[in-house]
Amino acid sequence: MSLYICVFCKSEVDVDLVRNRIQCPKCGSRIVMKPRPPAMKKRVKAI
Ligand SMILES: [Zn+2]
Repeated sequence: MSLYICVFCKSEVDVDLVRNRIQCPKCGSRIVMKPRPPAMKKRVKAI
């Protein structure tokens, strides 16, 4: 299962890879982005 985020309403969008169909169920947008992995957090310098 692939999970994407709608760029407009920020809701989770399920991507149907079988039908190759990407569309937000809430706003109908076809523009989605991959959510960033949680490992990319910024590190704060220690003083
Ligand atoms: Zn949307």
